[in-house]
Amino acid sequence: MPRKPESRGACVYCGETLTKRSAMKHLEACPKRQESLQAAEASNRPVENIWLLRIQDTYNKDFWLDLEMRGTATLIRLDQYLRAIWLECCGHLSEFTIGGWGGDKVAISRKADKIFVPGLTLRHLYDFGTTSETDVRVVGVRSGKATTDHPIALLARNLQPEAACQECGQPAGWWCAECAYEDDKEGFLCDVHVEDHPHQDYGEPVALVNSPRLGMCGYDGPAEPPY
Ligand SMILES: [Zn+2]
Ligand SMILES: [Zn+2]
Ligand SMILES: [Zn+2]
Ligand SMILES: [Zn+2]
Repeated sequence: MPRKPESRGACVYCGETLTKRSAMKHLEACPKRQESLQAAEASNRPVENIWLLRIQDTYNKDFWLDLEMRGTATLIRLDQYLRAIWLECCGHLSEFTIGGWGGDKVAISRKADKIFVPGLTLRHLYDFGTTSETDVRVVGVRSGKATTDHPIALLARNLQPEAACQECGQPAGWWCAECAYEDDKEGFLCDVHVEDHPHQDYGEPVALVNSPRLGMCGYDGPAEPPY
């Protein structure tokens, strides 16, 4: 079986394309990020713990985010961020646990500083019907000032995973739920083959967006960061 190419992403600071494995290393060295950190130190924000997080979909690890979170921010802020960038369809319930389903629930009102230790992985569950599961791994912590006034800063993010049209193999920009759920196909379609595609039962094919929730509970984006 051919080895799947490693997931690629981009540095938010300089735009460079990175592999998932090299992203953290790049962020440590990135000159643009260094500039941002220096500017932060000159600001009048407080010195605090800033937690470095690697977020990934539990089952589709091509979807990942590297974030920084202020120690005084609560998990509510992280939940809001994940909803905005990846998950929100119709206001479902969510929770954080240690140990996944049936694990210990972590109260969403808790502050990062009260829970996080390097190496800890939390599981975020969104929607207890068609559940999206997300792993939040605490990679490290720095003592310093936040680079923005927001509780969370996005550092790097996966690029839209490449998908091939199921009809012709060209790059796909669309996805048909009926193909995926009823016909056991991948459901990816190019701009040509999405025209006149015969399926309607699950609605029209949707444009691919950079979220692991695409197609779950009708999720169709926008998958944009809130800030
Ligand atoms: Zn960079
Ligand atoms: Zn929903
Ligand atoms: Zn095609
Ligand atoms: Zn179809």
